[in-house]
Amino acid sequence: MKPTPFDYSAPRSVPEALALLADEDREPKVVAGGQSLVPMLSMRLARPGLLVDITRIPELGALTVDACGALHIGAAVRQARVAADPRVRADWPLLAAAIGHIGHPQIRARGTVCGSLVHHDPAAELPTAALALDARFVVAGPAGTRTVRAQDFFVATFQTAVEPDELLTEVVLPPRTGGWAFEELARRHGDFATVGVAVLLDRGHGTPEPPGVVTGARAVFCGVGSVPVRLPAVEAALTGTDVGPAALDAARDAALDGLTPADDIHASATYRRESAAHLLVRACTTAWERTR
Ligand SMILES: Cc1cc2nc3c(=O)[nH]c(=O)nc-3n(C[C@H](O)[C@H](O)[C@H](O)COP(=O)(O)OP(=O)(O)OC[C@H]3O[C@@H](n4cnc5c(N)ncnc54)[C@H](O)[C@@H]3O)c2cc1C
Repeated sequence: MKPTPFDYSAPRSVPEALALLADEDREPKVVAGGQSLVPMLSMRLARPGLLVDITRIPELGALTVDACGALHIGAAVRQARVAADPRVRADWPLLAAAIGHIGHPQIRARGTVCGSLVHHDPAAELPTAALALDARFVVAGPAGTRTVRAQDFFVATFQTAVEPDELLTEVVLPPRTGGWAFEELARRHGDFATVGVAVLLDRGHGTPEPPGVVTGARAVFCGVGSVPVRLPAVEAALTGTDVGPAALDAARDAALDGLTPADDIHASATYRRESAAHLLVRACTTAWERTR
């Protein structure tokens, strides 16, 4: 099948892009890497009258670390560039690892980090990594610019806090230390995750916590609901422990209790829940090792 006819525009500034997105009559749509949108056009699941290509806007191509140590990823920055960046590999290795699970090199060479976040496939790796890393989303629109926290950004399957006349201009990740792991189960290498989990653990190194125990934990799952699922009960089960067998059992039980995936054509709910709990144990063990 071929896409329905559309106009194409490549603005050179954010205000120019927003002016094009305000043209409701043409039902405009942003295109970044095109790795999700172009297949949707070809299948006629999307029928925009105008594509607004944001990859020629210089300010959206920036990948920077600010004075506070936060990582800023502009909307035109490709996934492969982020995963290969030495600053990302050193200080946000969870992000680089999550990108490594996306499709194939050709996809990552074109697809953008921000495009994956706005597209928000519930089986995608980057929304889960963004929630685990406590990302902030900078959204520009007709009323100005606003910042949205990760827990408010992902609304439902293929739906985020970004409105049709708005543009996600960058995603910001705060500085991060500690142990990490990203584990996923996929039917074939390069497929979307059947289920996946991102775990971040901090190890105490002195008072008031005795050294050698978890002082902070984050556990976020993908493929188990319409949005990335963070489970505070899992985090509580790990906090204050040395991630020994009893803590891992408690974390796994909390995941089995807290996750409520649905059956679909790819996997049963039971398979997803049990696989996710299994991956969690593996991820916690790896993340704890990496705190040393
Ligand atoms: C064969 C194949 C395998 C893949 N495998 C995986 C996988 O395993 N895991 C995975 O997570 N993804 C996978 N993908 C999807 C890939 O990661 C896409 O690159 C990503 O989902 C979308 O990024 P993009 O830059 O290509 O966005 P586009 O396709 O250009 O846009 C996607 C959507 O987001 C909107 N959009 C994009 N950027 C912005 C912005 N800045 N502001 C507002 N709206 C915006 C567009 O309007 C569109 O609705 C795969 C894709 C293919 C073709």
